[in-house]
Amino acid sequence: MRILVVEDEKHLADIIKRGLREQGYAVDIAYDGDQGQYMAETTPYDLILLDILLPKKTGLQVCGELRAKKAATPIIILTARDKVGDRVQGLDCGADDYLTKPFAFPELLARIRALLRRDMTDKSPKMSVGTLVMDPVTRQVTQGDKVISLTSKEFTLLEYFMRHPNMLLTRTMLEQHAWDYEFDGESNLIDVYIRRIRNKIDIKGRESLIETTRGAGYRMVSR
Ligand code: CA
Repeated sequence: MRILVVEDEKHLADIIKRGLREQGYAVDIAYDGDQGQYMAETTPYDLILLDILLPKKTGLQVCGELRAKKAATPIIILTARDKVGDRVQGLDCGADDYLTKPFAFPELLARIRALLRRDMTDKSPKMSVGTLVMDPVTRQVTQGDKVISLTSKEFTLLEYFMRHPNMLLTRTMLEQHAWDYEFDGESNLIDVYIRRIRNKIDIKGRESLIETTRGAGYRMVSR
């Protein structure tokens, strides 16, 4: 999953980016409102963390304009302590949640996970496809009784598949949601990763959980 952080305090933005990357998220940073809005409009982010007090354009303006353009990306606004008005305005302009600065990182992570599962019909934190089960909280993946060990990027890709079962995911979509702008990989990188993930999650003698659609992309199916 890929997250946009719009935050002008460079130190805080860097801490958030590092922390989220450690959890396997792809992360881009915008340091002012204009840049944030531009990036949000041109890249398919899964979630946006939006500070309110920003140079050029406030977070409230950015949020309002994105919603006016029908962008449905979940937005968490970051507000200063004691600014009840900011929180109210933030939610009124279309943000989904808010977090008061300074915040505890585990709380930020929990709110991100809650928003990412909002659109899923099954609200339980665990996701499953057939006998493959992923717990985004503990980051444990199991196939039947077997615990599967995945690298951070393998986990990110598999999570994207499991959040979109039966949907055709193109290489571009997979790249856009699993890697950020610092990504500078080979064109066949996705295929290499899919091969590694299949080796880990598939059951011997059965067809792969990740189906290839020639020339189009991949689809996760329950077998
Ligand atoms: Ca700020």
